[in-house]
Amino acid sequence: MIFETTYPNNNYPIILKEHALSELHAFFKEDEQNIVLIDQDVYQLHRQYIKSCLSQYDIKFLTIVSGEACKDLSYFESVCDKLLSMNITRQSQLIAIGGGATGDFVGFLAATLLRGIDFIQVPTTLLAHDSAIGGKVGINSTVGKNLIGAFHRPRAVIYDLYFLNTLPTTEIRSGYGEIYKHAILNSEEKVNQLMNVYPSIKELERLNDIEHYLKMGIETKLKIVIEDEFESGVRKNLNLGHTFGHGLEYLTKISHGEAVMIGILFQKVINQHITHYDNHDSIFKFINYLKEIGYPLSILYAVETEIDAIFEYMKKDKKNIGQSIQMVLQDGDGSFTIESVSKEQVLDAFTELKSLIN
Ligand code: NAD
Ligand code: ZN
Repeated sequence: MIFETTYPNNNYPIILKEHALSELHAFFKEDEQNIVLIDQDVYQLHRQYIKSCLSQYDIKFLTIVSGEACKDLSYFESVCDKLLSMNITRQSQLIAIGGGATGDFVGFLAATLLRGIDFIQVPTTLLAHDSAIGGKVGINSTVGKNLIGAFHRPRAVIYDLYFLNTLPTTEIRSGYGEIYKHAILNSEEKVNQLMNVYPSIKELERLNDIEHYLKMGIETKLKIVIEDEFESGVRKNLNLGHTFGHGLEYLTKISHGEAVMIGILFQKVINQHITHYDNHDSIFKFINYLKEIGYPLSILYAVETEIDAIFEYMKKDKKNIGQSIQMVLQDGDGSFTIESVSKEQVLDAFTELKSLIN
């Protein structure tokens, strides 16, 4: 399946299918440097496959530390130096093979080196159906996640479903958090469909029909980011579940999408208090579903003495205005709204949530 973005200019194709990697070479630049930066664990797992698709081409490979560890300022500096010492030019091109962390990191290298060079996203996780689309790239600061970054569109996204076969269960669960978020932003019908197709972790692990839901997620995200690339309006809705989720992720180091899914649950409790979109029944139904899929809800007990630290973290969110926390909520009619939420409301929701999950 091939989509093309529909920006007024500088559009890019998204190729989503099994063995899409064999089409990557069509995007190589002749007589220029094409440098693949690949998550070292992904390289270990898929070395033979990657070689079978790419070994006949004149490209360079650089393995990078796996996962979130690469999104670090001093690591960024060391890889910058390495690439610059390879005499790259403005026409050179980087290719990111890995999950969302690899894509964010390599995208930020591409956005900044020589004031911007081309890059291609080759996502290898479920979660990266989200991160590879939309052009947000960046690394972390010690103060918080993704605080150093840029907007830089990829030249192409080559999403090869074959890579997903080696994903561990935690990463499947993590990616599913963002798929679920996109379903909420799409329609109630999509949410129900998802819950029917993947009623438990057993079904989810099989990833049956996952291409369909990745396509749904990508289309939902594209519609939003094309309307509001630089996040002055509707793109903020993509932050659903992230306000609390990012705080939880930062404090506990659970995976991004698992934290987002628990953040969606937290947002439902706030909905119940502020917009009344959710109620006891809908929250219970959702908690039972999260238990079926195995989200680590007990982490909420582990952080109960640290809720102040989570709150402080929530205050750092880029989308806040002044001292109040802005959260994406659902209004009574299911539409999305961004509301200021006070510390007291956050603490009340947290206490209630803890009592609901046992
Ligand atoms: P990740 O890159 O950390 O990958 C998760 C883990 O899976 C890593 O340990 C990695 O080595 C491993 N892995 C990757 N592919 C694999 C495969 N095919 N088989 C087995 N293991 C594999 O991150 P992620 O979970 O894909 O994404 C999370 C990151 O994405 C976070 O840094 C988050 O901030 C970012 N993100 C960015 C955006 C954006 O718009 N830029 C959106 C959402 C998330
Ligand atoms: Zn996210």
